[in-house]
Amino acid sequence: MTALDLLSRLMLDGVELHVQAGKLELYGHGPPPDDVTLVEVRAHKSELIALLDGTTCRWCRHPIDWKFSPAIALGDGTSLHGHCHEPFHVDRIMRNAARAVDPALADDPAEVGLHGDLPTIDQEAA
Ligand SMILES: [Zn+2]
Repeated sequence: MTALDLLSRLMLDGVELHVQAGKLELYGHGPPPDDVTLVEVRAHKSELIALLDGTTCRWCRHPIDWKFSPAIALGDGTSLHGHCHEPFHVDRIMRNAARAVDPALADDPAEVGLHGDLPTIDQEAA
């Protein structure tokens, strides 16, 4: 599991992560993370801090110098270089589209209408 995977899972579980004075803090209104998750948080602590304090790009993992390059802060507290913004969102949209047509991920596989290749106009005429 990567630090980003862990961050996503915690956010889905209702846990918010913040960096205050260089320290990682967890907040939430639900049940606290289990011991296994807390061990993972400790193992990825420095990576999580780097992602959440705006010093590391979540797409390319290179340092961000906010004084000299345009950067974008995202709603989850992570940041991107300006030039990483487009490939990040294209990848996000493509992953969401792939999930939308995957029968294995649908609550009801009948909801997924696309199976296999659609015939082309030439194939229908033959
Ligand atoms: Zn980047």
